[in-house]
Amino acid sequence: MSKHTDVNTLGEFGLIDHLTKGFTNNQKTTLAGVGDDAAVIKLNDDQAVVISTDLLVEGIHFDLVYSPLKHLGYKAIVVNLSDIYAMNVIPTQVTVSIAISSKYSVEALEELYRGIKLACDFYNVDLIGGDTTSSPRGMTISVTAVGVSHPDKIVYRTGAKPGDIICTTGDLGAAYLGLQLLEREKQVFMSGPDVKPDLEDQSYILERQLKPEAARMSVQYFHKEKIQPTAMMDISDGLASELFHICKNSKVGAFIEEKKIPIAPDSEQMALKFRLDPTTCALNGGEDYELLFTIDEKDLEKIRYMPGAYIIGEITKAEDGIKLHTSGGNIHDIKAQGWEHFKEV
Ligand code: ADP
Ligand code: MG
Repeated sequence: MSKHTDVNTLGEFGLIDHLTKGFTNNQKTTLAGVGDDAAVIKLNDDQAVVISTDLLVEGIHFDLVYSPLKHLGYKAIVVNLSDIYAMNVIPTQVTVSIAISSKYSVEALEELYRGIKLACDFYNVDLIGGDTTSSPRGMTISVTAVGVSHPDKIVYRTGAKPGDIICTTGDLGAAYLGLQLLEREKQVFMSGPDVKPDLEDQSYILERQLKPEAARMSVQYFHKEKIQPTAMMDISDGLASELFHICKNSKVGAFIEEKKIPIAPDSEQMALKFRLDPTTCALNGGEDYELLFTIDEKDLEKIRYMPGAYIIGEITKAEDGIKLHTSGGNIHDIKAQGWEHFKEV
């Protein structure tokens, strides 16, 4: 019998490494391939194309019981644009491919595309193509986003160095708590459809889950103020996982102050209601789509005035590891815990 190794033995990132390890970049124009938020292709000395693709699968990434199709269309675009912004680049075009089962009507797909259009208009990107096919079950959406930039302005995950300041935009953990609330109400709804869902007026965390925004303003601010982060990525899997990626790719360590991790009051309250630690939600919750970036100390003053930016720690040497200085005064290791998507259905 042929060998059968469960994909879960490697985890998502282990699997990507395993499958792509035999590939080398042989084209002079490939400036960055697998391993960053987006790939980079050099056109000439002044221009490079940045390109990123993502797949959203019904039942894994979204649940139509609580995710309206219009929101889903909007979110599908935003999460892809987020990977382009994470390279310090303004996205300009997207393609959208869908696989759909016959349970979806034309009207339902129109609703999905209303959301896609809203995002394209808001972020000023053009929908330039895609593909449409049938699926035996449910819906899968794949979006590819591109942008063009001067090659020297692109920010990778690899440039952080000891002494750099670690920052985030926005606040963290809200999208995860929004999901917890939606999942709780879904369970209530499933147990008896007559029970009215109680979303507790939690519009902030629900919106962070259902209609996230990409960190466009932050990237515009970097360009305007001529700030060049040393490393950057978007926070899609949780702060801990993203810190781990930056530290691994830059061969450095990190020291984070728990009390400086930005958490919105609504998130904090909801975490306590769910008996969850708000910091754990920020570290291990996903889908915030904020940016994690590092800057040289000399840019500290510029960052102090940046709207929505928070200084949360400092880059250290690799041998110092990734540490959290807790509000209680202890120092803990931060463990990388991204979302693992492989499960049998
Ligand atoms: P992000 O969360 O920023 O979208 P991912 O964690 O999905 O990034 O992917 C990490 C890196 O691995 C990216 O550079 C991506 O292009 C690459 N990658 C992911 N899956 C595959 C695959 N099946 N084959 C080749 N490259 C992949
Ligand atoms: Mg990313």
